[in-house]
Amino acid sequence: MILTKQQLQDNLDKIIWEIEEARIKRSEHLIVQLVVVSKYTEIENIKTLYELGQRAFGENYVQQLEERAKALEELPIAWHMIGRLQSNKINKLIDLNPMLFQSLDSIKLAKELDKRLDAKQKTLNCLMQINSAKEPSKAGFMPEEAIERYLEIKEQYPNINLKGVMTIGAHTDDKKLITKSFETTYKIYEALKKEGASICSMGMSNDFTLAIECGSNMVRIGRRLFEVNE
Ligand SMILES: *Cc1c(COP(=O)(O)O)cnc(C)c1O
Repeated sequence: MILTKQQLQDNLDKIIWEIEEARIKRSEHLIVQLVVVSKYTEIENIKTLYELGQRAFGENYVQQLEERAKALEELPIAWHMIGRLQSNKINKLIDLNPMLFQSLDSIKLAKELDKRLDAKQKTLNCLMQINSAKEPSKAGFMPEEAIERYLEIKEQYPNINLKGVMTIGAHTDDKKLITKSFETTYKIYEALKKEGASICSMGMSNDFTLAIECGSNMVRIGRRLFEVNE
């Protein structure tokens, strides 16, 4: 559904305000970046949000990212890849020059990605995805191995430019468990700061204020942006 500029402005304003309130609760020094997840929406809405000042957008399929990046080529949008990357899509992703690949979820993928980057003489900014609630349905590194693996990737795969961590909050209505998954990820991030980590990407439509209160400095929001309120 295509929203009017006013509708998108209202949604964006409301979200920015909620981010602001949560950020101040955590720390006046915390700066939080908003990545608009455009996977469910039309290109027209991306364009309108761009006109409203939004620059960072996220997609979870390489195919869709490619279509949109090409359609909006003339706009200096910072594209984020936030979904699972299949190895047969690695080259395509590299060629799209995304600002950040947020879902580096295994050593196997790191190895393959590094190899392809090397062949193209390129580097890629990446986040390590953490399976912070240890859910079998989710990808990512287990919390207890994350730090060690982060260092391993840094050391062995020099074309991968690790910038920090990403997680999806626990899939539950229990606020305590969601909080725990964010706190677990934040602790890993904190330990990796001395290794150059500067991004802790956590929080989606349902839980971004909680994520920010737990220290997130990058939220990925889709549905809330494209809601139509009567
Ligand atoms: C879809 C998605 C989001 C956005 O989710 P919403 O609930 O629409 O805000 C954020 N992160 C990832 C990894 C996603 O796949």
